[in-house]
Amino acid sequence: MTSGRDEIAVVGAGLAGCLLACFLARRGYPVALYERRPDPRTSTAERGRSINLALSARGLDALRRIGLDEQVMGDALPMRGRMIHPVAGEPRFQSYSADGDRAINSISRSALNNALLTAAAARPGVRIAFDHRLVGLDPATGEMAFETPQGKLTATAPVVLGADGAGSAVRGQLLGYGVLDESLDFLDYGYKELTIPPVGGEFALDPAALHIWPRGTSMMIALPNPDRSFTCTLFWPTHGTAAFASLGSPAAVERHFATHYPDLLALAPNLVDDYRHNPVGVLGTVRCHPWQVNGRVALLGDAAHAIVPFYGQGANCAFEDVVELDRCLDECGDRWASALPLFQRRRQANVEAIARMALANFVEMRDKVASPVFQARRRIEHALERALPGRYVSQYELVSFSTTPYAEVRRRVRRQYAAVGAAAAGTAALLAGVGALLARGRRG
Ligand SMILES: Cc1cc2nc3c(=O)[nH]c(=O)nc-3n(C[C@H](O)[C@H](O)[C@H](O)COP(=O)(O)OP(=O)(O)OC[C@H]3O[C@@H](n4cnc5c(N)ncnc54)[C@H](O)[C@@H]3O)c2cc1C
Repeated sequence: MTSGRDEIAVVGAGLAGCLLACFLARRGYPVALYERRPDPRTSTAERGRSINLALSARGLDALRRIGLDEQVMGDALPMRGRMIHPVAGEPRFQSYSADGDRAINSISRSALNNALLTAAAARPGVRIAFDHRLVGLDPATGEMAFETPQGKLTATAPVVLGADGAGSAVRGQLLGYGVLDESLDFLDYGYKELTIPPVGGEFALDPAALHIWPRGTSMMIALPNPDRSFTCTLFWPTHGTAAFASLGSPAAVERHFATHYPDLLALAPNLVDDYRHNPVGVLGTVRCHPWQVNGRVALLGDAAHAIVPFYGQGANCAFEDVVELDRCLDECGDRWASALPLFQRRRQANVEAIARMALANFVEMRDKVASPVFQARRRIEHALERALPGRYVSQYELVSFSTTPYAEVRRRVRRQYAAVGAAAAGTAALLAGVGALLARGRRG
């Protein structure tokens, strides 16, 4: 049912853009989905660019709404906790949830994108234009310009939705017209991917965990893949003596890993080649305002709010954007001029909350997880969750295993910490009082 509605333009057939096309088609809109790349289902992936990602409750909730969750979860590898690899000694497991059962899911990014592309293409009214790179957009008229193999093309749409990722061309156009402000906070860290292949056809590490090698100011993580390999990601500084560029020769690479990641050497036979040839990606937080202009051009997903990947929430959050936009269209009777500002109002505080939590989680992953104090705190948190089910819930659980709005997660966690702090202070005062009474009793 697509008759009677104008064709909506979605720029970017990545994770958010494809999901958005599915949701809009379900509402009865014809959709033109423009993508700068060729069809990824028939071309090869870029080397060393985020092979897999962790999908959790929010992303799954969005997929469930269009009936794709079971298909996507068919190839997922559930990770029930973190496996911490110290420099010396055995790895230690820390479960994510109090009951030890809840898991985040390692998913192939390309398989997820391809499943969403196929689902979008199968919806009536969706057409996908590959090899269309947006290079111009007039926010007043909705006229777009694309570079294509056939030369420059133009198209016009009553509503243009930019889902074209962190380096969004749509955002760039709005910036160029002076109708948007942006801030880009790059971390002094980059990322590089390495591979741990299967050993004898089996996983070389426990596939039911997200592996972390915390090293204070830097770290490496590894997530399992359906082909029984692991993709490792190094998060290292981009400048200084510990930067990627500081390891200038194969011998230096081997020496560095032997010193800081000794268990990896035996597991990653292509380590030096991967290290020397895989690119270093940038990491940062994108903020911009407004997310919509004239009720006809809007941004969502990374285009509006790229965040650092340390909570595994960027794609989950982008999927949640799509669910919220769909809800706003419902509530506004499909009047875009009302729905887009409402979408921005509802999402901005939530996205700012996860942006901050993601930055804070970098310190937790690269440093705190290794400390006995942190581990004791996690055990206490899990004990509180078991003792007060539903009343005390850790931040990690609320972010990864619920759809509680991110801003509410932060408020709730602050309230919980305050209550626990007050209870601890009360207990300490009580114990001090009892101690004083006992001492007086002994004297008397
Ligand atoms: C190292 C790393 C690890 C991550 N791990 C996780 C994780 O575990 N869990 C999680 O939830 N998130 C994770 N993320 C974040 C996640 O990858 C992003 O949040 C997610 O991809 C955003 O989806 P998107 O559709 O908004 O953008 P993208 O996936 O970037 O898609 C944008 C699309 O737009 C297209 N495009 C770009 N420019 C143009 C143009 N001019 N014209 C037409 N098309 C264009 C691109 O080709 C692409 O197809 C990670 C990110 C990184 C870098």
